Amino acid sequence: MAGLSAAARVRELGATPIVYEKGTRPGGSMLLSSCVIWRFRDWDDFRMECPAGDKALQRVVWERLDDAIAWLESLGAPVVVHETGNPRTSGKRFDPRGLTETLVRAAGDVRVGESAAEPTILATGGFQANAQLVAEHIHPGGLLRLRANPWSSGDGMRHALERGAELSAGLDEFYGRNMPDASFSEAEFVPLAQLYGRFARVYNERGEEFFGGEVSWSENDLVQATAQQPRARAWYVLDDDALAQRVRDRKVADIVALAPTRVDPTELPFPAPAGARVAVRVSPGITHTIGGLCIDEEAEVVGTDGLFAAGADVGGISTGGYASGLAAALVFGRIAAESVVARS
Ligand SMILES: Cc1cc2nc3c(=O)[nH]c(=O)nc-3n(C[C@H](O)[C@H](O)[C@H](O)COP(=O)(O)OP(=O)(O)OC[C@H]3O[C@@H](n4cnc5c(N)ncnc54)[C@H](O)[C@@H]3O)c2cc1C
Repeated sequence: MAGLSAAARVRELGATPIVYEKGTRPGGSMLLSSCVIWRFRDWDDFRMECPAGDKALQRVVWERLDDAIAWLESLGAPVVVHETGNPRTSGKRFDPRGLTETLVRAAGDVRVGESAAEPTILATGGFQANAQLVAEHIHPGGLLRLRANPWSSGDGMRHALERGAELSAGLDEFYGRNMPDASFSEAEFVPLAQLYGRFARVYNERGEEFFGGEVSWSENDLVQATAQQPRARAWYVLDDDALAQRVRDRKVADIVALAPTRVDPTELPFPAPAGARVAVRVSPGITHTIGGLCIDEEAEVVGTDGLFAAGADVGGISTGGYASGLAAALVFGRIAAESVVARS
């Protein structure tokens, strides 16, 4: 999202960008995503949800997202739904394949299977695919499964650090989903996400209800708490009421039915609570890192001279919570482009 948006904007401003894409296809995790590009409706809500994030960067995303979404539409990107389905947020859901194709067309020169020796804008999508960096910063056990494209392995961060970059707060945080504790494919990233923890009773393998308080709507707090449990696992235990609830357009019972790790409550390694109908063993899938490079409001990497970054390579925007990664990538991708063109 960040790299293609930056290139499309650079070209629109009259310069000649080249996108170097390390993977076997363009689109990164954007192509695999649900593709809801959103912001909190209320500024105070954003601050409350992501309290440790950089206020100035958050403000830029919040103020410039609507224009950026309109720009995507003006390029011809196909909108699937003109709202997010969440009353606290505003934004649009795009078709990820159509959006990728639109941006590739607008970007022009996209070189698949290549990396740039001297990049101007870093947009490599974070470091979640690098087991060593994940172990160093986020989780020592190597137990977090990847729920993202396989190529975002911290190349942007490494390159910027060699050029004097500073790192943001929240390097130990990640955005993810609890998934069935079994292997899953790219096509299952969305349908298999077990996004109903708020309706379940949640236990670790020792039978302890480890999550105190209310689970947030994104459930990212529950996912991160799960990572801290023995073997980074949890059990979601559901009664009839929980199974009848709805998450977006699906019933919880239908999501549970897809999970290969669902069991009868009698098979739990601890006594089941009264009323339990089914239990699902889950563990975290990491979608993207939340910490990363520090940038200023012009998308320049702090500590460097003329190096820019956008997207999940940038840290400190949704620290302490969760906000749309696509929104930040889109807004700062465009800003990075404008900064580069203005200085050339
Ligand atoms: C299943 C799933 C659902 C999601 N749903 C949503 C959602 O609904 N809303 C939302 O806001 N976010 C969602 N996200 C997150 C969103 O996809 C990311 O926040 C967003 O794609 C980040 O943009 P980016 O440009 O930083 O990274 P990406 O879109 O992943 O792009 C990074 C690109 O950099 C390439 N790359 C890596 N290293 C190099 C290198 N050295 N040289 C050249 N290229 C390199 C990668 O191959 C990749 O193509 C979801 C993600 C997933 C996986």
